[in-house]
This record gives sequence, structure tokens and C-alpha cells, in this order.
Amino acid sequence: MNASIARWMVLVVMLLVTWSTGFAAGNNYKNFDVAVYCRVYEVRQMKDPAYLENAWAAISKHVKVDKIYLETHRDTIVVDQETLDQAKKFFEGKGLKVAGGITATINESNQFETYCYSNPEHRRKLQEVVEFTARNFDEIILDDFFFTSCKCDLCIRAKGNRSWTEYRLGLMDEAGRSLVMKPARAANPNVKITIKYPNWYDHFQNLGFNLETEPKYFDKIYTGTETRDPVYSNQHLQQYHGYSIFRYFENVKPGGNGGGWVDSGGLRNLDRYAEQLWLTLFAKAPEITLFDIRQLYQPIRQEDGSMAPESELARLAGYVFQQVDGFAGRLGRPIGVKTYKPYHSSGEDFLASYLGMIGIPMDIVPEFPAEAQTVLLTEAAKYDPTIVDRIKRQLQDGKHVVITSGLLKALQGKGIEDIVELEYTGRTVSTREFFGRGLSARSETDILIPEIRYATNDSWEVVSALTSPSRTTGTPILHSARYSKGVLYVLTIPQAQGDLYSLPADVLTAIRNVVGRDLYVRLEAPSQVSLFVYDNDTFIVESFRESTGTVRIVTDRRIARLRDLVTGRELTGQPRGDRMVFETFVRPGSYSVLSAAQ
Ligand SMILES: [Zn+2]
Repeated sequence: MNASIARWMVLVVMLLVTWSTGFAAGNNYKNFDVAVYCRVYEVRQMKDPAYLENAWAAISKHVKVDKIYLETHRDTIVVDQETLDQAKKFFEGKGLKVAGGITATINESNQFETYCYSNPEHRRKLQEVVEFTARNFDEIILDDFFFTSCKCDLCIRAKGNRSWTEYRLGLMDEAGRSLVMKPARAANPNVKITIKYPNWYDHFQNLGFNLETEPKYFDKIYTGTETRDPVYSNQHLQQYHGYSIFRYFENVKPGGNGGGWVDSGGLRNLDRYAEQLWLTLFAKAPEITLFDIRQLYQPIRQEDGSMAPESELARLAGYVFQQVDGFAGRLGRPIGVKTYKPYHSSGEDFLASYLGMIGIPMDIVPEFPAEAQTVLLTEAAKYDPTIVDRIKRQLQDGKHVVITSGLLKALQGKGIEDIVELEYTGRTVSTREFFGRGLSARSETDILIPEIRYATNDSWEVVSALTSPSRTTGTPILHSARYSKGVLYVLTIPQAQGDLYSLPADVLTAIRNVVGRDLYVRLEAPSQVSLFVYDNDTFIVESFRESTGTVRIVTDRRIARLRDLVTGRELTGQPRGDRMVFETFVRPGSYSVLSAAQ
């Protein structure tokens, strides 16, 4: 190749690069925006133009990025103005929205050491960081760490006789107002501030995340939908959690949940990374943030020893975004079984995610959903002191209330007996055989469940568990009790929540038929097949199982045919009473997007 041709080719390549990145800017995917987050460590590195160019080339070749978050502070490190200006200019030149990020850690690698909000010096430091960031950006996001785990002597003294939860809830509410919102607005009246919450909502109150007050004064909230490995991670967050947490936070601040946020931490395989992305989008997140540029940018060594910019994660993300963008616009508003979680509550932690994994579409709400025909209440509902009265009112209105065995235990002697006299005996029994009307099923393993005692002919077993090897004793798995014009159900939760997955498909179907009775679609399937339902006769069935299996989809009779929005394939239903039944296969780690066909 002679020199002039080579020069010409370089020019063409440069033009193509300029054209394609210019073209990529703006609203790239039709149904959501994509953002990339950069920690202060990498923002500092952006002093080197080659780093910036290469990292951007690696990511933008696969993903259409709309926004970049440039972090100004983490672990007491603050980026210098000159480097920040250079990075801002670079990304603005690519047509991206540029926003700031702040991580309020002293030392992330020391068990996530947070700021001490009882310490005037720490407070002054954080306020300075906020002011600096607000002078630079009209939009700022606080990463996961705006909580406190500090138990220094100052904090111990300031806490006094209050519980840590009480102390920290008040402390962080105040810190959010006086160290973040007020100084930021003073430095930049146009600034909008988003607080990003991590994935552990049942424990927020213990560390001061205040879901009751903060979403009211922060401009937006944001959702950590990174759930990592459901087995080999300390958190054991189930895959469905990545969907239900986004919906929950949307219900906490309707219209104000800015997006979902996924990282590549704690994964055994890349399929899980892709899955976290699409689950976030199934929840209808308007923006998805990829954390972070360091995880994304993985240069590859070439034969000549030089490094080529590449990003395996971005390639995967780009594939997922392209596919989901093809049908996301067809999904209506997500709906599910309303389950009430009062502010600052816990109990049967993250049970909603496990219930989602057994095929019950979940919709967690922070206010009691009195309008719902069926309400599901877990132990967390005990934090509402008026809960028994609320249950009674639903039943008197002719509605259904399903309570878990954990809530029954918590409300014993606290008024639930006014509705039905049941006893959570405190004995744990083992079962593997179940029966009910038209139902007889065995599980492959023993399941430990709490025993519930009831009065013969006062309330009734819907599904029973046989509880000794001789099968001569039993206890309800699903129990019903009439009260006024309604029915109260008690759903027995195994002693280990994950044992819900061991319940036979027929038992799960009986549970879904009661809990999901108001939905136009239900599943007849084994556990670990989830259903995502939208209000426009469109829904998604996803298998988290390790093998392929048959799933029956049962809909209202009016739906005669279903169309797969990805493959175009059509399914024809078979009538069964007032329902329509569709049979299909689901492969492991895959989903089908189905819509009623005309
Ligand atoms: Zn402290």
C-alpha cells in the first residue's frame, strides 16, 4: 500500500468515526436512554486524552450512549478543575449530556466507610464537594453511599437513648437538606439532584436512608437494579428483585424514578449481566446507567503487543438494548399484585422477590392500597399500627386479603384473632406431600414449614401439607377464613424463603390462582418462571430455570391468540371454562414477549 492511499484511508476512517459518533448522540434508543458512570479515579485518568479517546471508542462502538456521569468525589479524592473541564468538553463534543456524580465515602474499600454526619469536619468537607460539583453541573447524582454506618464516639453521644435506626433516619434527612440540597441550590439555582438508592431496601432505615422524606425533597430518585448472583453473593438477591425494586421505587416517587443502574460485580457468568439489564428495562426504566467506565473498558492485547480498545460488556449491553428497544414501546404500564410495605419496615426480608420468582407478578407500594381487590401482606406490614383495622375494612368491602404466616405470627394477640382465631404454634414441621381440591403433589425434597393451628369448621385449608413420614398430621400451606363479605387467606412461607422454589408446580398454581386472581393472565409452571404483566394485554414470561420446560399460560377467555413480539410466532389458546390456556416452551435464561393478537 502506498503512502497516499494509506493517508486517504486514515482520513476516511476518521470521517466515519466522526460521523458515527456524531450520529450516535442524542436520543439513540427509542424507549430509554443509556448513561455511563465514571468514578473519580477514572475521571482523574481523563487528564490523558488517549485514555479518554480509547475508552470512549471501546464503549461507543457497541452502545448508543446518551449521557455520561463524571464523578467529582469518592474516598475523599476530588478531581481537579482542569481535568474535569477537559472531560466535560470531550463528552459534550460527542453530543452527550454531561452530569456530575458524588460518592459520599471516606474509604469504600474499608467496609464502605461512610462520612460521619455527627462530625463537623466531615460535614464541611461534603458541603464543599457538593458546592464544587453544583458549580460544574446542572444535574448531579449521589451514588449508593448517602447513608451512614458510623459508630464513632460522637455518633454514640449524639444518638443518646434513641435506636440507631431512629437516630440515623433523622440525621440523614437533615444532612440531605442542609449539606446537599441547600448548598447545591445556592451554588447553582438550576441544579437538579438525584439520590440513587442501592438494592437493599428492607434495611435502609437501619443506616439512615429515609425513603419517606428524601424522595419528597430530592428532584429525582434512582434505582440500584444490580442484583448479582442469587446464590453465591452475601445478599442472595433473587433475579426478579431487579425488576420489582424499580417498580417499588417508582411507586415511592411516581414519575420521579430516573432510572436503573447495573454493574458487572459479583457475576459468575455474563448471562447474568445481560439479564440484569433487560429486567431493568422490563420495569420501564427511562434511563439505564452502566457502572462504570473502568468495568466497561477492557482493552485487548493484539498480536503486535499493542492494546486495542474493546469492551465485551458494552458489546453484550448493546445487543440487549437493541433487542429490548424493539418491543419496549409495545409494553403498557406494569401491573401486579399489590403488596404493602410501610416506610421503614422490614420482616420476611425481600420476600416479594421470591414470590416474583414463583410466578406471582409483584407490585410493592408504600401506602396501603385500599382500592385493590386483592392485597398481599407480608410481615413488613406489622409496622403499620392500624393494619388489622385496614384488613377488616377490605374484608367488609368484599375484597380479599392474603397474609403470610410471618405476618400472622406478628399479629397474634394484636387483633388478628378478631378476624379469625388461628395459632402460629411455633413448631416447625417437615413436609414433601401436598393435597387440595383436585390436587395431589410431591416435592423432591423435604421442606420445613411453620405449623398453623385452626379450629375445625371455622376456617378451611385450601392446600394442605402432610407433615410426618407417616403422613398422619398436616398443616395448611394456603388457608382461608371468611369474614364479613370478604375472605382472608393465610399463605405459609417455608422457614427458608428459598424453599418456595421446591413447592410442586400444582401447589404454586393453586397459590397463584388465589393471589393473582385479579390479573388477566396467570402461569401454570414450576418455580423460577416469572411473569411480567402490563395493562395492555401484553406480558413477558421469563425462565430462570436451568432446564427447558413446558409452561401453561392461562388468560381471560377473551384472549384467543397470542403473538410473540420478538419472533412473530403465534399461539392459539384452548378454552377451559372461562379461561384460555396456551402451552409453550421456555428455555433457560430466556424470555418471551407476548401480546394478545386480534
Ligand atoms: Zn460518627
